[in-house]
Amino acid sequence: MYYDPVCKNTLTEEQVKKTYTFDGKTYEFCCDYCREKFSDSPETYIGKNWWQRFLYRLAESNAEEFKGKNPTCH
Ligand SMILES: [Zn+2]
Repeated sequence: MYYDPVCKNTLTEEQVKKTYTFDGKTYEFCCDYCREKFSDSPETYIGKNWWQRFLYRLAESNAEEFKGKNPTCH
């Protein structure tokens, strides 16, 4: 099973049409479009960095939102 990080589909071996190697890792894609999107900005689609950026943004917006209030965990 392969995972297309752009359209977020899981792909079987036959569905993998394109591959792209970035940072020593090969990524699989269902089509040229996804591969091009990925090659434009690979770090956008690589889980870890995306997640880190998301958490960073979340922390930032929470800091705004909870200004003057006590942040609580639900
Ligand atoms: Zn795709």
